[in-house]
Amino acid sequence: MENADRLIDGGTTHVFSIHVGQTFRPYSWKASADMDFRSECLYCDSEVLKGYIVEDEFGNVGRIATCPDCERVNAKY
Ligand SMILES: [Zn+2]
Repeated sequence: MENADRLIDGGTTHVFSIHVGQTFRPYSWKASADMDFRSECLYCDSEVLKGYIVEDEFGNVGRIATCPDCERVNAKY
């Protein structure tokens, strides 16, 4: 499973450091809203997830779906 998180770029391996289940606060990351998902949150009763394009602290960019209610990362996409 871990290999899915790795991107090979010019022989250097970058690992997007945000994980599913982690609490995510878009105001503390470089994040821009991408799209909304009609999908149930894994952790609470919310039925909508918000997708963000995020740059992590190492400069790696990824897309994550987060819950607007409990602020936990539900998926990467
Ligand atoms: Zn939730």
